[in-house]
Amino acid sequence: KALLYNMTPEQQVYADKWNKDHPEDDLVSTEDKLDAKTVEMAKGYDVVSVLQVFDIDEEEVYRKLSSYGIKQIALRSVGYNIVNFDFVHKYHMIVTNTPAYSPRAVAENTLTSAMYLLRKWGPILDNEREHLNFVRSEDLMSDEIYNQTVGIIGVGRIGSCVAEMFHALGAKVLGYDLVENPANEAFLEYTDFDTVVKNADILTLHTPLEPSMENMISAKQFKEMKNTAYLINAARGPLVNTQDLIDALKNKEIAGASLDVMTGEEAIVMKKFKDISELPVEYQELAKMPNVVFTPHSAYYTKTSVKNMIEHSMTDVKRVLNGQKPIYLVEE
Ligand code: NAD
Repeated sequence: KALLYNMTPEQQVYADKWNKDHPEDDLVSTEDKLDAKTVEMAKGYDVVSVLQVFDIDEEEVYRKLSSYGIKQIALRSVGYNIVNFDFVHKYHMIVTNTPAYSPRAVAENTLTSAMYLLRKWGPILDNEREHLNFVRSEDLMSDEIYNQTVGIIGVGRIGSCVAEMFHALGAKVLGYDLVENPANEAFLEYTDFDTVVKNADILTLHTPLEPSMENMISAKQFKEMKNTAYLINAARGPLVNTQDLIDALKNKEIAGASLDVMTGEEAIVMKKFKDISELPVEYQELAKMPNVVFTPHSAYYTKTSVKNMIEHSMTDVKRVLNGQKPIYLVEE
């Protein structure tokens, strides 16, 4: 019997399906987040599951969960920074997450971004919608992906899918990672960070964010990149220095960018605005550039991902309750 906090209508579909397919289980949902005010709802359940951006940092939450006999917090997300692991250890609990809910979702979004930028759909759509201009001017002439070099920083679950896809389209793929996986050499050539940055026609980021990696792409890298290169960031906002990116775009040091994530994205994601002047100032600048596209942290947002968030987290719940090792144990 599991209590799923932070339930959304699109996830509820898959929670209902789980209940139907597993009559021995009982997934109960609430839209509430897990905190000291709502923890008492978990009394009588075997496990809790959450998918929230708010930190669970009150000791009372862990103390009460433990007193109810709950030993596992099943996150329906990749990120686990919302959990306080001092309290998890103190109350002898474990945390599981869903790191592989769909690497292909983000990889396909990256492919979409690359083709959108490369085929200049930003300026084409801008001409059409803003100016009713259907002229095929020379600046709209584009390149073809099979003779481009794609540079991938971080060749993990998502990065290796990205490599496979661009390799299949005939592009040359360069990759940089702290750990080189020989299996990926079928699709890419591993090299150092600077070589990837300098040679990429499309530079795409797929690393996690550690404090030391903030501003990984900033003024120095923009100056080293090809003037014709595009940057794609669907990893984490602070990997890119936003002001340096704006300067690089204004100075034509790079040709364009696709940003699914950006520092300060909390100010816009899941919100609606009436006028561009309501946006944070850096978004206002970028929104005026036809060679820039941003999406609301939606690279992962596919039916498969949402389904797998439920299925992977609940599979690990069952494994733990049956005395097996979970597939996705978070070890901190
Ligand atoms: P992963 O752990 O499988 O792969 C990350 C890779 O980055 C690993 O191979 C790791 O060795 C490498 N790496 C770590 N530090 C590095 C460094 N300093 N330099 C080079 N490489 C480094 O993770 P993943 O599932 O591929 O996800 C990658 C990132 O994508 C996540 O951390 C998350 O930030 C982001 N993400 C975004 C969305 C979205 O919707 N936009 C969805 C899921 C994940």
